[in-house]
Amino acid sequence: MKQRKLLMIPGPIEFEPEVLRSMGMVTTSHVAPNFIEAFGNALDLMKEIWMAPNGQPFVVAGSGTLAMDMAVVNLIENGDDALVISTGYFGKRYADILKRYGVKVTLLESEIGGVVDLVTIENELKKKNYKLLTFTHVDTSTGVLVHPKPIADLAKKYNVLSILDGVCSVAGEEIKQDDWGIDVVLTASQKAVGVPPGLALLVASKKAMDVWKNRKTPVSNYYADWNNWLPIMEAYQNRKPSYFGTPPVNLIAALETSLKIITKEGISTRVKNHCKLAQAFREAIQSIGLEILPIHDSISANTLTAIKYPKNVNGGNFLSFVSEYGVILAGGLLPEIKTTYFRVGHMGSIDPKDIIVTLSAIEYALSKVGYTFKVGKSLETFQKIIQG
Ligand code: PMP
Repeated sequence: MKQRKLLMIPGPIEFEPEVLRSMGMVTTSHVAPNFIEAFGNALDLMKEIWMAPNGQPFVVAGSGTLAMDMAVVNLIENGDDALVISTGYFGKRYADILKRYGVKVTLLESEIGGVVDLVTIENELKKKNYKLLTFTHVDTSTGVLVHPKPIADLAKKYNVLSILDGVCSVAGEEIKQDDWGIDVVLTASQKAVGVPPGLALLVASKKAMDVWKNRKTPVSNYYADWNNWLPIMEAYQNRKPSYFGTPPVNLIAALETSLKIITKEGISTRVKNHCKLAQAFREAIQSIGLEILPIHDSISANTLTAIKYPKNVNGGNFLSFVSEYGVILAGGLLPEIKTTYFRVGHMGSIDPKDIIVTLSAIEYALSKVGYTFKVGKSLETFQKIIQG
């Protein structure tokens, strides 16, 4: 903490030293036996974490946006209809991606801080023969959590493929891809998966793979085309060498390390810990009079919290005092309300100590900007809940 600040933004997050050491290993060939083993293990572990024993995992160099792109471009064809269910900034990004491929997009947007209700979704699904729907598990711009199962159930009922943007949720929020019947669950390395930025990760269902195999037109994006990547993933899963585009060897070694840490702890224990810390953090924040952005606690994410600035508090000043204390937090992201709130990431390997330091930094900054509250109250609230 003396030389560096605690990174509590919603990605990239604080990484385990062991993961960072894997990043620093001597780079091997992408067909070296130790790398083949590491890649194969990482793909196997993804299926465990996604709870998708029958799924097809993909790992490619790129960020979460590439994973979003890859998930849909392989499934849609020009002129298809897609339904985008949006709870913030990243829902709208999905609409932009789909439009770029000539898809007819219907966008269902929630009110800020809320979710789109199931009746509205079902009514829309009745209207057209949608090829797929996309939804965001945790929209990082609002801290809103969408419960995936009911939407996945609707998608199945209307025979529509379901794509879950899990960039801010996989390995932090509950996901049961196979049980819930979600066709693609995608993420990026830099969030709850716990690996520095640079990997796009997704798992596709058998149904999604069949739709892709039976498509009539070529995939409109060369790099993201599963024709290029499926043989590579299958080769590594079978511990065989292969090549399409050079894999980011060190990042994949780090992925194997991080996924091993997560599965050693157990994915359900890890998710429970996220929920416990997040709930205690939300209560601590509210105990000093601050308001969170999601309109109900039941739709508040466990991987990050979006918090409104108190009246008359300048966000820029607040965040610089937080940083002066030694913690980095993120400002707002949703354009309509960008300057009115800030975001705290609490996913991956963080523990109560990190939250305590973060709350101390928030209290320090609030005092500096002249907000009146009972100093120490958020720390007391957090401790009571965590220890209780
Ligand atoms: N979806 C969500 C929910 C995200 O939080 C992000 C990144 N913050 C993305 C998509 C895009 O990921 P990336 O920045 O890695 O491209």
